[in-house]
Amino acid sequence: MFKYAFFFLTLVSFLFSCMKGQKVDLIIHNANIHVMDDAGSVHEAMAIRDGKVIEVGPERQILNKYRSDEDIDALGKDVYPGLTDAHGHLLMYANQILGVDLTGAKSMDEVIYRCEKYFAKSSNKFIIGGGWDQSLWGNDSMPNNKKLSEVFKNIPVCLYRVDGHAALVNEYLFKKAKIQATNVDGGEVKMVNGMPTGMLLDNAMNFISKLLPAYPSSQVKKAISEIQEELFQYGITGTHEAGIDFKHIQLFKSMISRGQLKLELYAMLMNSPENRAFAMKNGPYRFRNLSIRSFKVFADGSLGSRGALLKKPYTDDHHSHGLLLTSVNEMRNVAQFCLKHGYQMNTHGIGDSANALILDIYKNAFKRNPDHRFRIEHSQVIDPADFVKFSEYAVFPSVQPTHATSDQRWAENRLGKNRLQGAYAYRTLLRQYGMLAIGTDFPVESTNPFFTIHAAVQRKNPSNQPLNGFLAQESLSLDEVIRGMTIWAAFSSFQENELGSLEKGKRANFVIFDKPLESNPSFEQNYAWRTFIRGKMVFALDEL
Ligand SMILES: [Zn+2]
Repeated sequence: MFKYAFFFLTLVSFLFSCMKGQKVDLIIHNANIHVMDDAGSVHEAMAIRDGKVIEVGPERQILNKYRSDEDIDALGKDVYPGLTDAHGHLLMYANQILGVDLTGAKSMDEVIYRCEKYFAKSSNKFIIGGGWDQSLWGNDSMPNNKKLSEVFKNIPVCLYRVDGHAALVNEYLFKKAKIQATNVDGGEVKMVNGMPTGMLLDNAMNFISKLLPAYPSSQVKKAISEIQEELFQYGITGTHEAGIDFKHIQLFKSMISRGQLKLELYAMLMNSPENRAFAMKNGPYRFRNLSIRSFKVFADGSLGSRGALLKKPYTDDHHSHGLLLTSVNEMRNVAQFCLKHGYQMNTHGIGDSANALILDIYKNAFKRNPDHRFRIEHSQVIDPADFVKFSEYAVFPSVQPTHATSDQRWAENRLGKNRLQGAYAYRTLLRQYGMLAIGTDFPVESTNPFFTIHAAVQRKNPSNQPLNGFLAQESLSLDEVIRGMTIWAAFSSFQENELGSLEKGKRANFVIFDKPLESNPSFEQNYAWRTFIRGKMVFALDEL
């Protein structure tokens, strides 16, 4: 009898589920789904099939209309489109993981100590490191290689500054590079009393880049997989990789083919002959979750190493205006090339002079194509007279709010009070273009997007400094920051029809946050509770 009753119940539930209609792969319900559409809709449930959003709506509507083998009760938590880091460096971060990490080192002695410890354990006969920042060492002057060369006499050592715009190399490597000139276009070989210090700024680093040994690709891939896990725990499902060489296209494709790289990757090509040939041959290119249709160009260096190109000299170095890394002519050439081949141009611009030059080049792009979406990466220091050009020429600002709160310790020394008013001006930039692409520039900064939210909304670092916020009038709302990491980031990469919101037909890339997503005056760490890419779970907090 019991057996028949069971059969009957199964039949009823089967018929009932048929009546419920359409079969989908996954239903998320009891959720607080922030669709990030124009209307700012928030719904309770979502149906997903074939990796795409089929419908978002009220709980009853979705549960009545659809059935699925798998449904997830989101426990009333906040659901957002998967976050995109609109400016990061997977490859640079992978190299940092494989090399010696000098982040937070408090002195040159500590830098050397960390190198010794690393070398004792390493199987490689070279040391490449990164992350040092002389502004943490008290006197803020650039280091020299004296001690480093004494400790490491017979192996090449190259230690990059935290922003990647300067390197300290030991005498062994310096001699091997046979560096003759000290004046380099867009760079500098630092000398003191006629003697080289081992410091190479910006383009001067080209002397040693070809001499440096590379890590085996198996090690690089493993490191990228680790970074991907780190991003998933924060709900990041996509990154814009800000500058790759030709060989890296193959590296990413091979990881994607093996199912090792699931992130939506928007890679910018460096301006090399091989990469130009690739763009000419392929036009805008897509390989599954890899999209390539942009070039990355450096107009200037960084503010930290005084390489940012300024209209007037540095307040803390009256002899320096900074460095122009790519000639205006060459930047014009790249812009022409990009327009011709359907590519986007993303130019690194930190100083007010660099930004003015870029805006002028983009003005011509605007005449040829009003929807060029050319970006200025960082858009960091803007002459107040130039802000309006972002709207006039439809120039997309790409910003990293944690740069503001990291640089606040010394930005005024470099720029002076007046010039600082046009720096890290995210709100003013947003008012011009109506959108921002928001990222972290990892590994220059942490991958943690909650640091970004805190920096953008509260204008504070994770230790809640400064107390009243840095240039607090330039703060963004929480909604604006999230848009910068979702729908606007999608728009800035020509993917707004596939990514960036949870509207019908878009890819089911989303995050269910562990705690409510909010911004408070005091920093609070949050994590993803679940992260999904194309409807498949890639991270679960409780499985850690
Ligand atoms: Zn960068």
